[in-house]
Amino acid sequence: MEINFWDKEIETIDKAALKVLQLKRLKETVSCALKTQFYKPRLKKAGINSADDIKHWEDYKKIPLTTKDDLRECYPNGLLAVDMKDVVRLHTSSGTTGTPTVIYHTKNDINHWAELVARSIVATGATNEDVFQNMMSYGMFTGGLGLHYGAEKVGLTVIPMGGGNTKRQIQLMKDFGSTILHITPSYILHIHSKLGESGVELKDLRLRKAYLGAEPYSENTRKKVEQLFKIDVYNSYGLSEMNGPGVGFECAHKCGMHVWEDTYLLEVIDPKTGESLGEDKEGEIVLTNLTRRATPLLRYRTRDIAAIHKGLCGCKRTHRRISRILGRTDDMLIINGVNVYPSQIEEVIMRIPQVGTNYQIYLEKEGTLDKLVVKVEIYSKMFSGNLAEIDALKSRIVEELRASIIIHPAVELHEPGSLPVFEGKAKRVVDNRVKL
Ligand code: ADP
Ligand code: ZN
Repeated sequence: MEINFWDKEIETIDKAALKVLQLKRLKETVSCALKTQFYKPRLKKAGINSADDIKHWEDYKKIPLTTKDDLRECYPNGLLAVDMKDVVRLHTSSGTTGTPTVIYHTKNDINHWAELVARSIVATGATNEDVFQNMMSYGMFTGGLGLHYGAEKVGLTVIPMGGGNTKRQIQLMKDFGSTILHITPSYILHIHSKLGESGVELKDLRLRKAYLGAEPYSENTRKKVEQLFKIDVYNSYGLSEMNGPGVGFECAHKCGMHVWEDTYLLEVIDPKTGESLGEDKEGEIVLTNLTRRATPLLRYRTRDIAAIHKGLCGCKRTHRRISRILGRTDDMLIINGVNVYPSQIEEVIMRIPQVGTNYQIYLEKEGTLDKLVVKVEIYSKMFSGNLAEIDALKSRIVEELRASIIIHPAVELHEPGSLPVFEGKAKRVVDNRVKL
């Protein structure tokens, strides 16, 4: 396998040198954080009055954790560390689940972010011969602009289409021979279901790769997309608090996402106790942005659940890898007392070949108990078969789900195109249980 690098020196930096660089950058970030209304009192309380109070690499543990609620409290400028004239862009969250949050960037912050993206996509084998159709929304959502500048830096031909408008997306894929897509897992499955209708066949396309992210998905969904399109799928992880995409990305080996550790101090903690967990243990990812100057963010609790992989990757990059994101601490469903992540349900249904490209999870109250209903689209040819086959398929899905998540679900089979479609992040779970 040919190994490409964008910045070989930093991507293959040895562990000792990495720690030295991290400590240097952590000190700079702490100095910068001490300029903000939010961190100044908080760091002082923790005994950190200046960057000199961070002497050793382990001293990062003295820094208290930061939460999404802290960010909300800081809105609009409690975390601003530079003069507004040095800010070239800001991104806010939508605020649909509470007060919005804001992240500011200087010119250097944006440039460094683009460097991380450039490293990431080159690690998948992308070159200036690729045509890159960016189907993530542009605007305040960081998915679109996030990959855009890194892709231009590497010299890919960028089609800044953004999300939605499926017919036009398919037409552009064909007309310009797009080789790489950046897209959510739910939307790429939908695109596949619309290919035939648009009169475009796979053989009309030059697609080779897709970068899938922005929402949790299972290994079986990756396999399904790879088989449907005959392409390679790479997992891409990011969150607006840490800039956006480019935090973690799979290389050509596709075995976990390298987190760029010169820029992101990576920890996994037990979400209940806050205790630091070792490698290979699933917990909440905590990240410190070591290079952003406009909005420093120290030990941020991402709420994303994953594990840090042990060992070196075959690509020789020394930056550690994290597993697929299992879900978010706030996504976890408690069904009759059992903890279930939606991605566990997805993992099961996406390995069943008759299952199509869409599904939904419903929760209802039945008396005092919770009822889980999994609605699954199946390929239309199934409906022309006999009823016994449909029944057998339904029983198989029920049985496989029960074996995996312990709960006995009700399963409904639906025709293709009958469940709601999402062009950005999917909303798979409808929870109709009355909240106390
Ligand atoms: P929001 O928090 O409103 O969804 P973001 O756009 O910042 O806003 O989304 C970041 C979140 O999206 C991450 O914290 C994570 O939960 C999810 N996410 C991003 N990439 C992936 C991925 N590859 N796999 C699973 N989840 C992802
Ligand atoms: Zn690798």
